[in-house]
Amino acid sequence: MAESATTGGGRPRVLILGGGFAGVGAAQKLQHADAEVVLVDRHDYHTFQPLLYQLATGLLERTAVGHSLRDLLARHENTTVHQASVTAVDLDAREVTFDDLAPLTYDYLVFALGAEVNFFGTDGATEHAFPMYTLPHAVRLKDHLLERWEAADRDATLADDGALNVVIVGGGPTGVETAGAIAELYRAVFASDYPTLPQDQARVILVEAGPEVFSMFKPKLRQYTTKALADRTVEVMTGQIVASVSPNRVTLKSGEEIEAHTLVWGAGLQGNAVVQTLGLELQRGNRISVGPDLTLPGRPEVYVLGDVAAIVDAKTQQVLPQLGSVALQSGEHAGETITRRLAGKETKPFEYHDKGTMAAIGRGAAVVQMLGGRTMTGAKAQIAWGAVHLALLPTNEDRAKAVIDWAGASFTHQRAGRITVGSE
Ligand SMILES: Cc1cc2nc3c(=O)[nH]c(=O)nc-3n(C[C@H](O)[C@H](O)[C@H](O)COP(=O)(O)OP(=O)(O)OC[C@H]3O[C@@H](n4cnc5c(N)ncnc54)[C@H](O)[C@@H]3O)c2cc1C
Repeated sequence: MAESATTGGGRPRVLILGGGFAGVGAAQKLQHADAEVVLVDRHDYHTFQPLLYQLATGLLERTAVGHSLRDLLARHENTTVHQASVTAVDLDAREVTFDDLAPLTYDYLVFALGAEVNFFGTDGATEHAFPMYTLPHAVRLKDHLLERWEAADRDATLADDGALNVVIVGGGPTGVETAGAIAELYRAVFASDYPTLPQDQARVILVEAGPEVFSMFKPKLRQYTTKALADRTVEVMTGQIVASVSPNRVTLKSGEEIEAHTLVWGAGLQGNAVVQTLGLELQRGNRISVGPDLTLPGRPEVYVLGDVAAIVDAKTQQVLPQLGSVALQSGEHAGETITRRLAGKETKPFEYHDKGTMAAIGRGAAVVQMLGGRTMTGAKAQIAWGAVHLALLPTNEDRAKAVIDWAGASFTHQRAGRITVGSE
C-alpha cells in the first residue's frame, strides 16, 4: 500500500541531509519517486574525499574533487537543493532546523551528514594541525606547503628551523596516501622547482601509534607498504603518539620534539556533531545503530547512512567500515527502498557488495585485499584502485578529468595544480 503524504504540497517530502556519497546516492535513486525530494548540504558541492590528498599535492584540480550539487541533480524534476547548515533534528516532530533556512518537516528523512575529524584532545591540534576531511582542508594544506617552500626560498635559514618538514599522523589509508603523495611531490617536483633548497631538510615523517602501518591489511601488504614508503623517502615512526603541536614543533608522548611547520592529521574520525541533537544512544565514534533496512529502530521513516551509521554487515556480522563504497551503496539502497515504499512495493534488507579494501601509496604502488583473501600490489593494484575510485566519481565528466590529470602526472611527473590562488 502506498504511504500517505503529510508534507510537500500533496506529495510526500523526502528530506536528504548531506550531499556526500550517501546523500547523492539516495538522491540519484529517488529521481523518479512520486515525492518532493529536498537535499540540503552546507556546501554547494559534493566532495570526493578519497582524492583530497591529490588536490593537496597538486595532482588534481579542485573541480575534479568537488562537483556542484545543483549540476549533479539538475535533471531531477522532483528535487531541490539548498545550501544551509543543519543545526538540529527533532525526530518526534519530524522537523529539521538550519542556521539560515526556515525549518523543514519531512515524511522520510535521509540522515547522511558524514563524520568529522577527531583530534582526541591533542594539545594545539585544533589550532595548528591540517586535517584532511574537506575540500577547504586540502586547499589549505596545498597553499601552506607551497607558502613554506616559497618562504624558505627567500630565507634559507627557515629550512634549518623545519619549515619544509612534514609530520603526518595516522598509518591508515589517509595518512599513508598523503605521506606517499607529499614525498613524491617533494622529490619529483619541488626538488627541481627549488634547486637551492636541500631535500634532506625536507623530511616526510609518518607517525603511527600502533606497531605497524595499515593494520587492516594482511602482513605481506603491510611489509610491501613499509618498503614502498621507504623507497619514496617517507620516514615511518611506529609506536609513537603525538602529544602536542605548535606552529613549528611537533612533540611526541615519548618526549621527542620534531622540528616541523606542518602536521597533517589523518588519524581519527567521529560522527557529525548534529548526531548529538537526536537524543539517541550512540555507538563507538558517535555512530548511530541502524536495522537491516538502514532505518532507526522504531522509526521506519528515518534512514541513517554512510559514515555516520553503524551498519552491521549481514554476511560477516561486523560493523561496516567508513568507506565511500559503503556510503554510496547504503545511499542507493535507501533511495531505491523509499521509491518502492512510496509505490506500495515490497522492499529488501541492505546487502553490501565488497569490492575489496585498497589504498594507493604512490606512482605504481598500491595494495588491494579482496574479500576472499586474494591480494595485489604494485601497478596492477594501482589500476584496480583507479578503476574502483573512478566508478565512485559522480559523473563521466569527472572521470575523464581525473584520467587526464593522472595520465599527465604519470608521464611528466608534473603537477599542474601547484599554484596558490589566495586573496590579494
Ligand atoms: C582523506 C580521505 C580519504 C579517503 N579515502 C577513501 C578511499 O580511498 N576509498 C573509500 O572507499 N573511502 C575513502 N574515504 C572514506 C569516504 O570518503 C567516506 O566513507 C565517505 O565520504 C562517507 O560518505 P558520507 O556520505 O557518509 O559522508 P560525507 O562524504 O562526509 O558527506 C557528508 C556531507 O554532509 C555535509 N554536512 C556535514 N555536516 C553538515 C551540516 N551540519 N549541515 C549541512 N551539511 C552538512 C558535508 O558537507 C558533506 O557533503 C576517505 C575519506 C577521507 C577523509
